[in-house]
Amino acid sequence: MTPRAAAHAERLPAGELPAYLYDLAALDEHVERVRAALPPEVELYYAAKANPAPGILRALAPHVDGYEVSSGGELAHVREAVPGLSLAFGGPGKTEEELRLALDLGVERLHVESENELRLLARLAGERPGRAPVDVLLRVNLPVGDGDLGGAALAMGGRPSPFGLDPRRAEACVPSLGPGLRLRGVHAHLASGLDAPAQLALAARITAWAREFGDRHGLGAMEVNVGGGMAVDYARPHTRFDWAGYGQGLGTLGERYPDVTLRIEPGRSMTVHAGWYVTEVLDVKHSHGEAFAVLRGGTHHLRTPAAKGHDHPFTVLPVQDWDLPWPRPAALDEPVTLSGQLCTPKDTLAARVPVAELRVGDRVAFSMAGAYAWNISHHEFLMHPAPSFHFLS
Ligand SMILES: *Cc1c(COP(=O)(O)O)cnc(C)c1O
Repeated sequence: MTPRAAAHAERLPAGELPAYLYDLAALDEHVERVRAALPPEVELYYAAKANPAPGILRALAPHVDGYEVSSGGELAHVREAVPGLSLAFGGPGKTEEELRLALDLGVERLHVESENELRLLARLAGERPGRAPVDVLLRVNLPVGDGDLGGAALAMGGRPSPFGLDPRRAEACVPSLGPGLRLRGVHAHLASGLDAPAQLALAARITAWAREFGDRHGLGAMEVNVGGGMAVDYARPHTRFDWAGYGQGLGTLGERYPDVTLRIEPGRSMTVHAGWYVTEVLDVKHSHGEAFAVLRGGTHHLRTPAAKGHDHPFTVLPVQDWDLPWPRPAALDEPVTLSGQLCTPKDTLAARVPVAELRVGDRVAFSMAGAYAWNISHHEFLMHPAPSFHFLS
């Protein structure tokens, strides 16, 4: 933990547990380093769905060129939290209401996911004569083989998926743009969890395709958004994505395509390390030979380990006080499963992880809880109280 977060986690009154802590100063430092590692001409957008808390969005504002939003809800929310900053609106299944909202709010970029969506958007834009045209990027699902990416699994594209347009369909889209829309370039978010060399290989593939596409359709200067998905490693929480290597590679790529503005839109890798979910051990017991620690809270607050199928990294914060007149239940020098308060075996945050000592009343801080954590969790299940939230600066 950062010293600031650790001190806060230890001082926090028991009544405020479970708690989410966000170290905004550490976040500021991290994103400043990310920005500095990128060539100045590469645009950095933050994918708001990773963590849309207003405090997080505002902390990122000095370092990003804009925000990628994926719904009308995110669109309105981000516009209000960080007014005046550029927004790119992507995501499948945009409704007519959401598209109207995007036009009303003057969204800077619209990522078009299908021909049907393009037609609907062109029609809505056509209802507003005299307004500046809407700037669109076509989201393409390029056929990228796993071999191109060093064997990394493609999550969002490169194979049949509901995201984006097949290259052939993207070509067919160009004639139906109409006067209300202006084609600015291409968007592709094909994978998540790629390390820097794989991200660079992917960016090179996308940019090469996009440049040829742009040339075929008379686009001179154009934009290429190569997506997010920079890897973070929950099994090795101290490692970081190689931003320096990635930035250098993007610089080389940019030199090869002087008429292309490159843009990236990472989410997880920006905020994941700046958040912790802190709670306490309510019970420790042994069941058929295995140790279990039952925590206040659970996956209804931190669904990340259940969603991704991993053991979430954690630190034990020992609490010495024990004033009950019976022996303090503990797991000692043995693997322990950390579970929550929900009545389902899926409420497991980490399974059979060795600990030196874990006792009832000790605190536990789950790290890497700054992205896809609280906001992807099923808060209402079992009606336990919500955690408290602390934005440390
Ligand atoms: C989710 C998403 C991102 C961000 O992905 P991360 O893995 O959080 O970096 C970027 N672009 C699009 C289109 C997305 O759906």
